[in-house]
Amino acid sequence: MTADDPFGLGAAAGMHRLAVPTPFAVGRVNVYLIEDEPLTLVDAGPNSGTSFDELERGIAGLGHSLEDIELVILTHQHIDHLGLVSLVAARSGAEVAAIDAAVPFVESFSREAQADDDFARKVMLRHGMPEDVVTALQSVSRAFRAWGARVGVTRVLRDGEQIPFRDRTLNVHFRPGHSPSDTIFHDRERSILIAGDHLLAHISSNPLITRPRDGSVERPQALVAYLESLRKTREMDVELVLPGHGNPISDHRSLIDERLELHRRRANKIHRLVAERPRSAYELAQALWGNVAVTQAYLTLSDVLGHLDILLNEGRVREVDRDGVSVFESA
Ligand SMILES: [Zn+2]
Repeated sequence: MTADDPFGLGAAAGMHRLAVPTPFAVGRVNVYLIEDEPLTLVDAGPNSGTSFDELERGIAGLGHSLEDIELVILTHQHIDHLGLVSLVAARSGAEVAAIDAAVPFVESFSREAQADDDFARKVMLRHGMPEDVVTALQSVSRAFRAWGARVGVTRVLRDGEQIPFRDRTLNVHFRPGHSPSDTIFHDRERSILIAGDHLLAHISSNPLITRPRDGSVERPQALVAYLESLRKTREMDVELVLPGHGNPISDHRSLIDERLELHRRRANKIHRLVAERPRSAYELAQALWGNVAVTQAYLTLSDVLGHLDILLNEGRVREVDRDGVSVFESA
């Protein structure tokens, strides 16, 4: 450990970061090895040979072997975090722990991912995205699915419970929004929070609109849920956040305040655009960001819809149907 290693503080507390490569725009994913009993991995990286090799080498570099892992904890259901979990568990015999909300998805990964894509398709068409863009995006998503894999969960976690180790205790907190299953792990004694993608230093976490599990056809208010989760995390006593991507965060309250402010400003901006003239969510995304790469199109649409949900809840906009496409107008 060197003095200028941003992950040095975590490492000193026995929480070592391994940066595992991903094929995605986000870059490497942070996997954490917790040197304790049980020897624990938090997330595992995407399902690829390159990622597996780097993970194995990283663990070896810390003086352990992948076969020694006793517990794998999942922060959320996204493929860059979960893809290698089942391979690690198969090699090591490790237990796999995940929040109850993640279990139905990760245990039937292929079927659930397909159902998510079918739901996303309806959302995209409903909100004015051209059919050729939707089709292109869906084939990208199908191709990406190979980096995920089914996970068998042997230990179901619940919000508020504790995971005991020999030298520490992690408190489990459910913080949905970025995905429907985001979970953060708080070492209260050391004021360290393992946060997955709930809070990232360099980018605001995308609150992706994901199919509701209760079978309802209404789109879930992912951003509204995310902001509520952020406000809860803001109240926690934390000195160091170990995130799922990028560098650690030392002042989580200021960062959360910045994020809350960013979303407030963006909601106002979207309200101004809607007040100019009624527009679909896709038209709003185009007005804000232009023609983004096709792989980003669902992220930007989710982002706009998230802010429209805030405006709808505040009674500032109305959603009306125009020939099967939702159009938003100032209320
Ligand atoms: Zn994620």
